[in-house]
Amino acid sequence: MKGDAKPIGFIEDTAVVPEKLGTYIKEVETVLNKKQLSCIYYAHIGAGELHLRPILNLKEAKDVALMKEVALDIARIVKKYKGSLSGEHGDGRLRSEFIPLMLGDKLYTIFKEIKQVWDKENLFNPHKIVNFLPMETGLRYMPWQPDITIKTIFDFSESGDILRAAERCNGSGDCRRFPEAGSVMCPSFKATGREDFSTRARANIVREYLTKEKDNLTKGTFHQIWQMYASCLSCKACKSECPSTVDITKIKSELLQISYDKFGIPLKNRLIANIERVNHLGILMPGFYNFFVSNSVTSYFIKKLLGFASQRQLPKLYKISLRKWVKKYYRNFFLSNFPKNSALGDIQFFIDEFTNYYDVKIGIAAIKLLTILGYKINFPFHHFSGRTYLSKGLVRMAKTIANENITLLKDKVNANSPLIGIEPSAILTFRDEYVDLANDKQAANKLAKNVFTIEEFLYNEMKRGHITKAKFSSKQIKILVHTHCYQKALSNPQKTIELLRLPAGTEVAEIKSGCCGMAGSFGFEQKNYDLSMKIGNLNLFPAINQSTQKTVIAAPGTSCRHQIKEGTDRQALHPVEILLKLIKNNNY
Ligand code: SF4
Ligand code: SF4
Repeated sequence: MKGDAKPIGFIEDTAVVPEKLGTYIKEVETVLNKKQLSCIYYAHIGAGELHLRPILNLKEAKDVALMKEVALDIARIVKKYKGSLSGEHGDGRLRSEFIPLMLGDKLYTIFKEIKQVWDKENLFNPHKIVNFLPMETGLRYMPWQPDITIKTIFDFSESGDILRAAERCNGSGDCRRFPEAGSVMCPSFKATGREDFSTRARANIVREYLTKEKDNLTKGTFHQIWQMYASCLSCKACKSECPSTVDITKIKSELLQISYDKFGIPLKNRLIANIERVNHLGILMPGFYNFFVSNSVTSYFIKKLLGFASQRQLPKLYKISLRKWVKKYYRNFFLSNFPKNSALGDIQFFIDEFTNYYDVKIGIAAIKLLTILGYKINFPFHHFSGRTYLSKGLVRMAKTIANENITLLKDKVNANSPLIGIEPSAILTFRDEYVDLANDKQAANKLAKNVFTIEEFLYNEMKRGHITKAKFSSKQIKILVHTHCYQKALSNPQKTIELLRLPAGTEVAEIKSGCCGMAGSFGFEQKNYDLSMKIGNLNLFPAINQSTQKTVIAAPGTSCRHQIKEGTDRQALHPVEILLKLIKNNNY
């Protein structure tokens, strides 16, 4: 919810027998209406426990007092209905104050005696149930605290500002689920079980810092914050799975930029962020470059300089960049393979920084597949996506790139000529960060609506009946799919799965994995290596290791393929490579 008023969970799991829930809720509404309070209602109605969260601004003293009045009024009504003040959760610090009212003095005295016998020193859960403090003790804010606004490069206006973006966390703890729960959020918590590696802790520490120190960031404070943020993989799972949509990836990038503005940019972060510039030079002599990154002596020093783990293999460049391949070879391929009589439409092709230098074969496969299917491909001039700058927190630089790309593409991309990209982390930047960085919001939003991952595009075309089974052979093939985190957060992994199910002979299963653990340069870094492999080992590596060698592993993300290779020694393919292999009369 935008602004400081939030749905507050202090009477949220009151419960009465289901038959009386209707009249009970009417009485609750009378109390709330008298005090002119709105309320969020949700869940568990069948069990007589409709969740209630009145909307209050606990930064204001009058609403803190109102909270207490409402809590007391509702406790009296619950007692009248012989219900429970805590039908699902514990009484905690908020409701202990009302236990004597609910249960009576006689029972409450027994509670106190039991506590005295078993916990004389008041060590376990102090101030809960007995020896309680008033419910308004220890709230996040004191009403006298000043209001704070911090200037940011990202647009946080959806929440209000960066502080309010962190305040979205209501402490529910959904980010503290273990792998068995099947959710994606939060990989660093899942692998370690550590609160300080959870989304909640990251939101809380930023809130504390911004509230207490405003924008007066010291090196010591940043170091404390960074101890929690360094283990965040920027996977965006919280953005889509947290019930309050806390977006730690965005907060982390902005925090890094704030720290760079104060203390400078560390050399290795600068180098990693600028890897596309290094590759731009490297591709002039790819053999030479590849020798340096793979030779044990030279690669040792490169890894040392970048802070990378010695166990990691540095990615090699392809013999030619994709941009150059397009210039040299695409025209001939188009002339001999484009089905002029069954052309399907126009597209704009986005060449990202990873496909241009490392995954050129995948880029070529995508271009061939689209051409054979009948799409006329345009290659508009644009910059790379800026993903490496974003993940290393050079947000100001990313903003410049975003604005220039929007200007370059806004008049070329539209519903009839969408922008298609291969690498999810790059193309989905248009849908996510660009919208929050753009000077021209309208153009950014319009562009975002017409930008697709190649699987999204082909899936949509399949649904329109433009691409059919008849185009593909029915060769029997088992495929195991691991989708990229950003597809999970910003797209729909099912589109990749359904698309791969189009050819008649494919048997496709999705790996119920979250982040692979690599997350760009995160898993390369020495300090993250163990955590990265631990995350890979949660679900992804075991699922692949249990599959037969004949099973094809599909992974649209470049980092995921690298992690799979190093974690399981299996070479994963991009879905377009699989589809190109299955297309009929494939002589390519
Ligand atoms: S970050 Fe989200 S899921 Fe985690 S505690 Fe906060 S609101 Fe709940
Ligand atoms: S971005 Fe991923 S790793 Fe970071 S807090 Fe969110 S879920 Fe956890």
